[in-house]
Amino acid sequence: MNDTSNPLMNHYNLPPFAAIRPEHVEPALDQVLMENRAAITGLVADDAATGWDRFVAIMESLDERLHRVWSPVSHLNSVMDSEALRDVYERCLPKISEYATEIAQNPKLYERYRLLADSDEFAQLDVAQRQLVNNVLREFRLNGAELEGADKARFAEIKKRLALLSNQFSRNVLDATHGWHLDIINEAELAGLPESALALARQTAERAGVQGWRFTLDAPSYLGLVEYADSRDLREQVYTAFSTRASDQGPNAGQWDNAPLIDEILQLRHEMAGLLGFANYAELSLARKMADTVSEVSDFLYDLSGRSRDVALKDRQMLEQFARQQGLDGPLQAWDIPYYGEKLRQQQYALSQEQLRPYFPLPKVLDGMFDLIGRLYGMRVEARNDVETWHDDVRFFQIYDADNQARGAFYLDCYARPHKRGGAWMDDCITRKRSGDHVQQPVAYLVCNFSPPVGSQPSLLTHDEVTTLFHEFGHGLHHMLTQVDYVSVAGINGVEWDAVELPSQFMENWCWQRDVVDSISGHYQAGDRLPAELFDKLYAARNFQSAMQLARQLEFSIFDLRLHAEYGQWPSPQALLDSVRQEVAVVEPPHFNRFQNGFSHIFGGGYAAGYYSYKWAEVLSADAFGKFEENGLFDQATGRAFLEEILERGGSQPAMELFVAFRGRKPSIDALLRHSGLAA
Ligand code: ZN
Repeated sequence: MNDTSNPLMNHYNLPPFAAIRPEHVEPALDQVLMENRAAITGLVADDAATGWDRFVAIMESLDERLHRVWSPVSHLNSVMDSEALRDVYERCLPKISEYATEIAQNPKLYERYRLLADSDEFAQLDVAQRQLVNNVLREFRLNGAELEGADKARFAEIKKRLALLSNQFSRNVLDATHGWHLDIINEAELAGLPESALALARQTAERAGVQGWRFTLDAPSYLGLVEYADSRDLREQVYTAFSTRASDQGPNAGQWDNAPLIDEILQLRHEMAGLLGFANYAELSLARKMADTVSEVSDFLYDLSGRSRDVALKDRQMLEQFARQQGLDGPLQAWDIPYYGEKLRQQQYALSQEQLRPYFPLPKVLDGMFDLIGRLYGMRVEARNDVETWHDDVRFFQIYDADNQARGAFYLDCYARPHKRGGAWMDDCITRKRSGDHVQQPVAYLVCNFSPPVGSQPSLLTHDEVTTLFHEFGHGLHHMLTQVDYVSVAGINGVEWDAVELPSQFMENWCWQRDVVDSISGHYQAGDRLPAELFDKLYAARNFQSAMQLARQLEFSIFDLRLHAEYGQWPSPQALLDSVRQEVAVVEPPHFNRFQNGFSHIFGGGYAAGYYSYKWAEVLSADAFGKFEENGLFDQATGRAFLEEILERGGSQPAMELFVAFRGRKPSIDALLRHSGLAA
């Protein structure tokens, strides 16, 4: 593209965040779509444009140009939401979806890829190139390339509508999350809250220009109340607001109701699967995954439920007894569980996550985490202060390997703030690519929502939050350390959904190793490491109520899978959810709970009929970590093997092949059961 005053239209090494304005988005997108369309028209008109170099490589570069315009926009929409950006973002989404559909349904493009797959050249390609072509062919089929006439048109219409509905679903959840707050004037009502939760609420109130303490539905604020408020009314109030977000229930009933969206999304997904010849959307979803069939996944989930249910029921019973001893009157409610859970944890292990915060100041945790990848993979991480970002809180880091080669870089945006989507995630800013001798360095976005520094005190993390940071960094390493040269299968690209959490969940294991905890902890005032006594308690508490948590994850996974596999067999999603809860849940939520209306993973994101992937990948990650346990945690050969067989390979081969190459055998569920304290 030409040099213009529009920063999105210029080639950049790193996105010029400070210069990007909402009014730049649409012209830049229109321009790149127009140029890409012209290039594609030229390609298919040119009979000589076949094979890898003259066809596939060019298609890859067109994709990448679009990604370079859209990735910073989509990222800003998540971390710096504004009315103007939101408007243009939503206006642009259908254009991208339309373009993607056009490509996916272009029979001439499909034919060029098939020609290559059938040619002599195909056998000469390397394994990553062949995987890439096979993935593209599969995507063509799954995107309706083999459809004709009215079916083809209908398919395109559905895709476009689904993209809009998903975005609207997430937007409703965001609006509903930010559309509620609670101001407390009388401190006595806040009995039980730790100082960190009070300080955050005070700061939130100050910024809003109100007296007292303000609580919101952002995770740190919400959790502070439900885990610690002695006032049962207060817990009920905030739980009710949270669990009815974007629904016809609760304090903002009907205002951002996602129920009609859920119905339409499910109907359209089912219709789409039918057009492609699948019996249901779950089958369509699994066509892209490591798992083969709905029953294979269903058996896996119910098997885990069977093996953990007795322990989960016992956990629950113990919690109920404990709550009674503490004076609970009447049944144990959903808003009592985090509260008494935290109290019981403190009693059994005399440990609260709050006690751990002073030992995990964010800068110390980062240093220790970077040391770890030095020990495991010989990598070094350095901060850079000369890079422009989208917010003053954001930092930028560069990773070098043992030969001092720059391998990748990442932005780190750690703190919760208004107009930033909740949760934590890694996203792809720039992907590794080779053009001749030049290798484009991959860049990641790492985003978390930790409590910001308060006054002169640094951001202090709970151990849970430390684990979240390691998790996202694991995704980041997968993206940044890749050695694959082709964008579509480099890093996390092209990795099956149910295997993509392997590197991230693998990283979580390190947060439980004494060696590592020593290097990531240091009291923010006294400087001492996490004392052995606290670490031992933390470790002992690791599997506290883990069977109950597993039951919840299985409830979500089974609900999601069956919701998509059994479309039309249930009067409503709620009816199915109730039935699944009967089978696997050990906690009965209140009748007004509308968990599904905020289930953005499956309605706003890409996890439809794929939420099980977290557990599936946990089997892989636990089993991979098991090899480190067997060979010695910091065994260099094992570290190198994980780097070379998993992290560097990205999506260049099926996940099962990579796993077997690393582990020497297929995955086994034993390590997961052992780590979860559920081994027989
Ligand atoms: Zn993840």
